[in-house]
Amino acid sequence: AKTPVRVAVTGAAGQIAYSLLFRIANGDLLGKDTPVILQLLDLPQALNAVNGVVMEIDDCAFPLLAGVVITDDPEVAFKDADIAILVGARPRSKGMERADLLAANAAIFKVQGAALNKAASRDVKVLVVGNPANTNAYIAMKSAPDLPAKNFTAMLRLDHNRALSQLAAKAGVAVSSLEKLAVWGNHSPTMYADYRATTANGESIKAKINDEAWNRDTFLPTVGKRGAAIIEARGLSSAASAANAAIDHVRDWVLGTNGGWVSMGVPSDGSYGVPEGIIFGVPATCENGEYTVVKGIELDEFSKERFKITLDELLSEAEGVADLLK
Ligand code: NDP
Repeated sequence: AKTPVRVAVTGAAGQIAYSLLFRIANGDLLGKDTPVILQLLDLPQALNAVNGVVMEIDDCAFPLLAGVVITDDPEVAFKDADIAILVGARPRSKGMERADLLAANAAIFKVQGAALNKAASRDVKVLVVGNPANTNAYIAMKSAPDLPAKNFTAMLRLDHNRALSQLAAKAGVAVSSLEKLAVWGNHSPTMYADYRATTANGESIKAKINDEAWNRDTFLPTVGKRGAAIIEARGLSSAASAANAAIDHVRDWVLGTNGGWVSMGVPSDGSYGVPEGIIFGVPATCENGEYTVVKGIELDEFSKERFKITLDELLSEAEGVADLLK
């Protein structure tokens, strides 16, 4: 039998985790032949709720679930973790300034980065979901100097999946036929979903849609503000689709994409003019547990404009936490 894979999840009492944990235990993350151990972290006041979630997980009698750890100590949660999905984050509360939100989260992700540095597998794959996801991943990475920087990623996959579904509907093609979509930048309304290279069954989607006004005035705002639209409609945030995107991101990173492009927030190697280390959404392919950024994509004038907006936002976030990282 295969050795169980240790999957740490933070914010385990939250809404996203309530969708995520059951799917991980069901084998949706790593395949139906890989047992998993869930290592669940939340704040002390949330541990009772985590216990309740674990009662339900027990009641599913998942054949692949080889163990569950419940803790409020990051070093316990991350002990020997092969995968760490960091969902828990401080939400923006009424009257909170952006700087305060950054600072509150910087404190959380500094502690968690240090705990990963100390306790996790040296090959740990880290995905940050909690917002501001890119900057939280950046802080965790900077706080884990003994782990390879490339192990730290942020979730752009929900934006990627949202864009795929909008494109498929507009062009009248199956989502599964779409290839080569890129989502650049920050997981925020400034992200740039770029379908200039996208094909459906080998045919250019841009040529098929042939509507630049739709791209600018409908597609990009719809994808960028989708989270707010779902809160408006549902009264609750888009937790199930966020959990699904987290599964997609990690599964593809571990099991590979077969040459297909996915969008991931990864520390920049300096390509595309993004300063080294900034966690930036890029198209990537995955093979043998490693991602490779797709290089050499030309940016036209419109793309350069969009690229700059999302990069400037990330640079100002990085500047906003610089003092906290000293
Ligand atoms: P959710 O599980 O709904 O969301 C958690 C985080 O994911 C938030 O930062 C949220 O951002 C972000 N997120 C990213 N993409 C999406 C998306 N598409 N839709 C919704 N959210 C998205 O939050 P809950 O409040 O239900 O649960 C959070 C849990 O985390 C709580 O149990 C809390 O105790 C825990 N927590 C744990 C910490 C720790 O372990 N140290 C620290 C802080 C919190 P956004 O805020 O922008 O919606």
